[in-house]
Amino acid sequence: MTKDESFWCEFGCEVRIYYDHIEFSDGLRIPIPRNVDTNKIHNCPNLDPHAPYDPEDKNYMFMPKDPDVYTEMADAEGGHFWDYEEVSHHYLELDMNFDGLEFKNYRDDLKKLLVEKLNEIPEFFDSIALRAGEESLPACLQTNTINIYGDLGEFQPAALLGIFYEMDGNLDDAKKCFEIQTEVSTYGDALNLSAREPEPNPEKKKYWLNRIEEIDQQIRMNKQELLTKKQTGEESKKAQTSRQIQGQFSLQAVISKTYDFELDDLRTFADSKFTKNDMKTILKETPWYNHNDKTLIDKVREMQAKEENDTILPLDPTDWDYLDLFDKIQILQSHINGNIRNYLHTIRRHRNITSHPKRYKKKDLEQRNKMIILYIQECKDYFKKSKDA
Ligand SMILES: [Zn+2]
Repeated sequence: MTKDESFWCEFGCEVRIYYDHIEFSDGLRIPIPRNVDTNKIHNCPNLDPHAPYDPEDKNYMFMPKDPDVYTEMADAEGGHFWDYEEVSHHYLELDMNFDGLEFKNYRDDLKKLLVEKLNEIPEFFDSIALRAGEESLPACLQTNTINIYGDLGEFQPAALLGIFYEMDGNLDDAKKCFEIQTEVSTYGDALNLSAREPEPNPEKKKYWLNRIEEIDQQIRMNKQELLTKKQTGEESKKAQTSRQIQGQFSLQAVISKTYDFELDDLRTFADSKFTKNDMKTILKETPWYNHNDKTLIDKVREMQAKEENDTILPLDPTDWDYLDLFDKIQILQSHINGNIRNYLHTIRRHRNITSHPKRYKKKDLEQRNKMIILYIQECKDYFKKSKDA
């Protein structure tokens, strides 16, 4: 932060600001204007597209009213004041038709343009309209915090920039953007057209905090994966220790850990999320995959009637215990984030390996076994945190 260097806001609102520069790994930079007194990101009232203005006098809407401020700004900024035409032109250029966002080169063009425009007018509260043209917006852009009207999406700049970085796999950069977006959502935003003052939006804030948590998980697991790959490579060279390690990470040992995890941690987590009655209702309402009109409650009853015990069950089984891991993940869907859902499905699929382990190279299998142990740990930590929250 460079708080010692402050300026009058360029748009005549008579607020002192300073710029907090954020740099991304590709070298792009954006300035975040912060209020000198509050350190909050400056949400300039003069840039609010719904602010009333005098049509007779619209070129003066970005001029400070205080003559002292006017003189100071004229001296400091070489006499340049924004006028109505310049500002509207800026926003017009940001209102784009956009096809082919799934391609990195198109995305890069838009990203550069967005950054260039944010350097011109650093405004993080207003929304940018993005038109997908012929198609609907790509799934990764259809988040629940974004207003979508048909093929038109409205995005706040930091969110959009972060989504682009996430699509590129630049997780650290995405995180920086989502942190700015969380802050913006904390004070409120200009999307609520009826509100003169932006109102805080706790739901959006929570949404972006969750996105940051997901990114942190991905960053952690990517690091772990690299580490395990390296270790597995080194271990296969060291014949002496490998027998011991193979035992610890043998396929059978890992599979049995996945069952322990399912019967213990996953079950406890589900119990913390649903009462017995909730669970009954859910089972009655969730369709049984590939079984026409039947629901999961039918599945549970049929399994109980068979009672063959070819599935692993705890001593005192409840309805929940008769479900497959697949059903359990589906039921928990709205209580877990996207990463955890992926980890659970990876754990589930890992069990299929037992039926054809020969298809895997020994080294790959070791590596996968280790990752499964890490996924289990990550899920356990997540369950614990989510129960305490
Ligand atoms: Zn301002």
